[in-house]
Amino acid sequence: MVGVETGRPRSRRAPGASRKNGDDVTPRSILISGGSIAGPALAVWLEAAGWRTTVVERFAEQRDTGQNIDIRGAAREVVRRMGLEDAVKAATTGERGTEFVDARGRALASFPAGTSDGDGATAEVEILRGDLSRLLVERSRPGTEYVFGDQITGLEERADGVEVTFRDGPTRTVDVVVIAEGVTSRTRALVLPDADVRELGLYTAYLTIPRTPADTDLWRWYNAPGGRSVTLRPDNVGTIRAAVSFRSDVRGLADIGPEAQVRVLRRTFDDAGWETPRILDALDGGAPFYLDSLAQVRLPAWSRGRVAVVGDAAYCASPVSGMSTSLALVGAYVLAGELAAHDDHRAAFAAYEERMRPYVDDAQDLPPGVPWIAHPRTRPGVAALRTAIRVVGSRPARRVGQAVGAVAGLFSGSSSELVDLSGYPSIAASTAL
Ligand SMILES: Cc1cc2nc3c(=O)[nH]c(=O)nc-3n(C[C@H](O)[C@H](O)[C@H](O)COP(=O)(O)OP(=O)(O)OC[C@H]3O[C@@H](n4cnc5c(N)ncnc54)[C@H](O)[C@@H]3O)c2cc1C
Repeated sequence: MVGVETGRPRSRRAPGASRKNGDDVTPRSILISGGSIAGPALAVWLEAAGWRTTVVERFAEQRDTGQNIDIRGAAREVVRRMGLEDAVKAATTGERGTEFVDARGRALASFPAGTSDGDGATAEVEILRGDLSRLLVERSRPGTEYVFGDQITGLEERADGVEVTFRDGPTRTVDVVVIAEGVTSRTRALVLPDADVRELGLYTAYLTIPRTPADTDLWRWYNAPGGRSVTLRPDNVGTIRAAVSFRSDVRGLADIGPEAQVRVLRRTFDDAGWETPRILDALDGGAPFYLDSLAQVRLPAWSRGRVAVVGDAAYCASPVSGMSTSLALVGAYVLAGELAAHDDHRAAFAAYEERMRPYVDDAQDLPPGVPWIAHPRTRPGVAALRTAIRVVGSRPARRVGQAVGAVAGLFSGSSSELVDLSGYPSIAASTAL
């Protein structure tokens, strides 16, 4: 295990040592299900605090797909404490801001990347999800066992631990289990079946397309009538990340399979205009894509017994909030801090929830009309949105983040003051570089 050397005077018991046996050398153990952002982040902190950490990921290898995600406010402080600030900065996508365009690609208004906490469509730290995940996995890997291509099938709570059964691997018993499986988590249903997964009525298809000389380093955003938007974003590997979003009352399109999804996208976007043909051609040509139904996750409690949830599985705020990754990073930090600080998992889970709830509630509290306000159905609606964006674009630069939030109803962020990152000496000291 790395990180057991904390630099602090040693207490009678090593950090993370199990108390159940009265044995000073047995580390407490955690099984984390989900190896994207929240899972590996939790492993970073707990393996540093002396826990025995295992991450099980359903996919056969670390998933490097996904587009730009934002690291905002308190999450940047968490990344700094992890010692990953420079690596994250080096991996940012280079997006310089956001530009709303009309059907001919003419700029309606431009907004520079956020330079302060939370605000703006383009955050100060934009990184590809796959890059951030890789950094977190690499950071946790020295002291964490990663099991790819398997998943939990059963959880049986015992007096001294949880017995976990897997689809393929042997049964294990651990002190606690944390589920970090994202919005559609299956294991969550075994322990917290009352999750409210609230679809927002907006689908987004994400894909990567070749960059052309006409592309810029701005996130270009185009609205078409019919509740549709088309966006193009730069990345740090010389390609362009495209996303097409559309309003729909039909449920279940995320599960109908790629061929049927391409047909739906073709039909929906055929007459959308701007750069859409380029995106549809890529889809027709077999470009890998991912169709997601935007949703928020709400749970009355984030734990039961020895099992807790973190990240999107617990409290996804949806991509339109711009906060899901930040909540995952901060949530993993707070959960690790509380587990390291308490002998009793129940006390740790209660404290985690108490600290995180206000921050999560604020991030999930989307402005009225979001996300539909940024996806008008009618031509006059699109014209009105464009007028509002132009007006906002003429305001002083320091206000643009909030102004874009007010007009487009997007990326309003969440105040760092709503979460307290103080305390947690065992994890803070053990990861200090
Ligand atoms: C492949 C991918 C691409 C994404 N792309 C974007 C994007 O472009 N834009 C955006 O805003 N957000 C994207 N996200 C979501 C974003 O990562 C999260 O909103 C946020 O970072 C919180 O992360 P999380 O770790 O809580 O959940 P997630 O990032 O959703 O990760 C959940 C992880 O759990 C794994 N998993 C699921 N079920 C099981 C199971 N039963 N057993 C074991 N493992 C399981 C998944 O494979 C995944 O690795 C993407 C997520 C993934 C997984």
